Amino acid sequence: MAAQTTGDITDALMADSVWTDADLDAHGIPRWSVPFVTIGGGIGSFAMVDALRVAGVDPSAMLVLSDLDAPTETYEHLATNSQIPDHERLRSDSGSVLDCLWGWPGYALREAITKRRPGPVWQVATEPILSEYFTPQAGQVYQSVHREAARIGWHTMLRKGVVRTVRKRAGGDYFVLFTPEPGTAPTKRVAIHARFVHLAVGYPGVRFLPDLQAYRETYDDYRSVVNAYEPHNHVYEEMLRRPTTVLVRGSGIVASRVLQRIIDDREQHGAQTQIIHLFRSYPQGWQGDSRMFRRPSRRGWTYQAFNFPKASWGGQLRYQLEGLEGEERVAFIDAVGGTNTAPRRDWQRQLEEGARDGFYTQALGTVDAVEPAKGSTRVATTIRTPTDGIGVLEADFILDATGLEAEIEEHRVLRDLLEHGGAGRNVKGRLDVERNFEVRGTAHGDGRMYASGSITLGGYYAGVDSFLGLQHAALQIQGALASQGFSRRLGALRSTSQWLKWARNVAP
Ligand SMILES: Cc1cc2nc3c(=O)[nH]c(=O)nc-3n(C[C@H](O)[C@H](O)[C@H](O)COP(=O)(O)OP(=O)(O)OC[C@H]3O[C@@H](n4cnc5c(N)ncnc54)[C@H](O)[C@@H]3O)c2cc1C
Repeated sequence: MAAQTTGDITDALMADSVWTDADLDAHGIPRWSVPFVTIGGGIGSFAMVDALRVAGVDPSAMLVLSDLDAPTETYEHLATNSQIPDHERLRSDSGSVLDCLWGWPGYALREAITKRRPGPVWQVATEPILSEYFTPQAGQVYQSVHREAARIGWHTMLRKGVVRTVRKRAGGDYFVLFTPEPGTAPTKRVAIHARFVHLAVGYPGVRFLPDLQAYRETYDDYRSVVNAYEPHNHVYEEMLRRPTTVLVRGSGIVASRVLQRIIDDREQHGAQTQIIHLFRSYPQGWQGDSRMFRRPSRRGWTYQAFNFPKASWGGQLRYQLEGLEGEERVAFIDAVGGTNTAPRRDWQRQLEEGARDGFYTQALGTVDAVEPAKGSTRVATTIRTPTDGIGVLEADFILDATGLEAEIEEHRVLRDLLEHGGAGRNVKGRLDVERNFEVRGTAHGDGRMYASGSITLGGYYAGVDSFLGLQHAALQIQGALASQGFSRRLGALRSTSQWLKWARNVAP
């Protein structure tokens, strides 16, 4: 291999699936050594490192490689864009406490204490029969994560930058090729030699509906057609300035939130917005097998408190899924998940009033074309209705709240793992992991690679992209690492003493 001293990679190096120490020396890429690395630095990495710290791992044994300053940063960005500011409520329950592995005290009790009112405790005690499920305010979750991050020494483990690739190291373990933030390392790249690698890179990307993406590219119009996950405040500002029509696509939780925002602006600030809500399918009545679970659909919306039924996280649905393989597993995950939203009374009332007063109308059909409307600045969506009729829906803005996730190979590190690392895909096309979240096919000597988050959907656990799911994965991985001697086991005594430390905000 040609000798270089710049810290740059070469095509020849990237073509090799296994790297030697000498390869890196020849490229002038310095080697750092640490037993455990987590890639991503978001909520999944946070849950992982938190579990390991509680299980007695010293911060000096771990590195967090991330483009973020705080673990909640990407989450906050996506939540804020999809109209969940700090004071709005999220979609997980009181016990999904990200900062506290034990789940107690939950967010409801904490809110009751902070606000000195018993309402949240009453709500959580009577949910879901007398009250709706309690869900925490976004800001409360962020603050509690920041506190826990400080307690476990997150910032001493964090190295800011971008991971380029993970490769097997000749003789065992891995090299994580990392581009540190400018000015923080002597060379452009460093290679981190680690025995354990954890991938928590979040969504590989947000994908647009193909017809909307085609419109944006063809007409270079990124203003009228927007995705709910990208910044789109100009849409709400324009709705306040003049009467507008907006076409909303999607019927999940994000669609609920953007519709609520639009109608709040009508109710509270006098906006004159007309809403057309386009559905591709229009479920009605009960869905699912009543022996396992079922959920109601009404006026095109399917209602379920959380994105999966609660029993998927820790009840009988979890154990049922753990025993399924192949197509059966896909069918099960699709049946209990799929597109659904929370049955909240406030937004159901708004939509009922909107339908009655004529500012919220629904349309059903598949999209044939999206193009500029003739003779106006609007965008025209041509749809084919279920009876094969043609309809044209004109709107000033199209808001895509379908929340499509990109394929895993659109993420450079994951694509590389599929090509060079031995990783494979599961039945849903995501990263294939074992029940303990080890990435199948990537074990190398003593080295083990694990993954958590949405990139593992399709495995043996449904709610992987949730606070509780990320904590579940973290505990499974921690257990696997404990059996390899990297951390202690979390038995009753250690767990109790650690909870006491957590309660006193003392380092683990
Ligand atoms: C709007 C929204 C609301 C949600 N609400 C809830 C809720 O109420 N309750 C619930 O339980 N769950 C909720 N979720 C689901 C889940 O909890 C979040 O998606 C969570 O952020 C997932 O954590 P993560 O670590 O997988 O990804 P993230 O938190 O997104 O972190 C991944 C990070 O990795 C970084 N990264 C990627 N590649 C690299 C690389 N090569 N080098 C360095 N860094 C890299 C990314 O930039 C990103 O910052 C919600 C999700 C969204 C999008």
